[in-house]
Amino acid sequence: MFEEGEAMAQKQESPSYDVAVIGSGPGGYVCAIRASQLGLRVALVEGEAQLGGTCLNVGCIPSKALLHASAVYAQRAHWADMGLEGSPPRVNLKAMHAYKRANIETNTKGVVYLMRKHKIDVHAGWGRLVAPGELMVQSQKEKHTLHAKHIVIATGSRNRNLPGIKVDEKRILSSTGALALAQVPKHLLVIGGGIIGLELGSVWARLGAQVSVVEMEERIAPGMDAELARALQKSLARQGLVFHLGQKVAALKSVGKGFAARLAAADSKNAKNAKPLSVSHVLVAVGREPMTEGLGLAKLGAAQDKAGRIVIDSGFATNVAGLYAIGDAVAGPMLAHKASEEGAALAERLAGQNSAVNYRTIPSVLYTEPELAWVGQTEDEVKKEGRAYRVGKFPLSANGRARLMGAGDGLVKLVSDAQSDELLGAHVLAPQAGDMIGALVLGMEFGGSAEDIARTCHAHPTVSEAIKEAALAVDGRALHI
Ligand code: FAD
Repeated sequence: MFEEGEAMAQKQESPSYDVAVIGSGPGGYVCAIRASQLGLRVALVEGEAQLGGTCLNVGCIPSKALLHASAVYAQRAHWADMGLEGSPPRVNLKAMHAYKRANIETNTKGVVYLMRKHKIDVHAGWGRLVAPGELMVQSQKEKHTLHAKHIVIATGSRNRNLPGIKVDEKRILSSTGALALAQVPKHLLVIGGGIIGLELGSVWARLGAQVSVVEMEERIAPGMDAELARALQKSLARQGLVFHLGQKVAALKSVGKGFAARLAAADSKNAKNAKPLSVSHVLVAVGREPMTEGLGLAKLGAAQDKAGRIVIDSGFATNVAGLYAIGDAVAGPMLAHKASEEGAALAERLAGQNSAVNYRTIPSVLYTEPELAWVGQTEDEVKKEGRAYRVGKFPLSANGRARLMGAGDGLVKLVSDAQSDELLGAHVLAPQAGDMIGALVLGMEFGGSAEDIARTCHAHPTVSEAIKEAALAVDGRALHI
């Protein structure tokens, strides 16, 4: 959805820039804006028809639109408890997708506006590195070269596939296909119990699908606090999701309009005794891999690690002079806000500042119901380090506001250093935990302690009072339990 003004840049002969950014996701477009704010001449190269990357087009925004709409629909189960009566709403999936698309469009148009406002030249086409400081941009209509003192790779990531399971986006889906289903699937098999699998599984379960989640580990949400993940699993199971943990899909056979899936123990090589499962659709949600295809990295000798991620130093520089990389294309959590922080910090470095990203305080959020949000280390990670620590917990069943919202399932858990009381990790399972975690991120950014949180006045009645109570519990003095 490029507009005429932006396309004008294509007509110039080999224009020269201070910074050329490849990829218009939250890493790339934020890097472009910040560089322009600092007086640099900036080009942004994007191969897809719309700006905004995975995040705005097929990631954060569309998934949260469907999560929000389906959560509102699911709330009807509690209407009667609150004295609300009348005929329940029906799902009009076509209209729900239109609502999703409208939100995508508002956001992507917003990026087009921001590029114009900051006088950033948008080049429509796929970028390929030709030589240090030189880039070829190829669209269906034409190709042209541009030069830049600094080139930033912000090309993001794509869905990781599983051998032998070919995604057709009709019945075997990546997250992109699972965001666009024209009908509620009868039985959706989700392969992978991580963030994307649990979010999209929740959407379709709320809208009426039978949902089975297969996860190789003995727990859902690997990498998150194990205790909160168990509590979330119980809550999701009550919402109808069925979990097959410690298992893998050993075979998938097309049968009629669906599939017969054979599940086997994750460590088993033999699928003979595997459990059969009859499903209509399959979602492959086993992670994402960096998108570096066709960039010409090898020609320039840019180093990549075993996972295909571009290797950078602490200043986002690759081993090729003038070439940098950020976001999902490099190591670290594959999150939009991590990509944006890196984009802004890199732009500032290119303008001569000494900016950096504090990776200890990047929050993560799993947008299920309740949400699971966390920052810093899990209890298991701290334990593994052999560091002496203290834990404070507070269940949402003891929080008045959460109870009246029918959200007593949650838990807040804080981990602090046993000697200094410095906050090492904060984990919140609660409605809107993604918003609540901000205060804890700030606390950790300032090097705060559990005692600092405990002595901070929290408004009543709010779910966030559970955070104060958990902080008090670190010192054994929670008030409401
Ligand atoms: P991207 O957003 O992937 O953007 C890269 C851009 O580069 C793309 O537009 C691509 O077309 C373009 N590109 C690639 N190669 C070239 C080339 N050679 N030339 C020109 N252009 C090129 N993260 C969160 O923080 N919160 C969430 O709630 C969340 N939900 C998600 C839900 C789903 C279903 C998915 C799939 C992801 C989600 N993510 C979420 C992850 C988030 O989308 C990514 O971490 C983020 O988009 C990465 O930003 P990026 O700028 O590195 O790359």
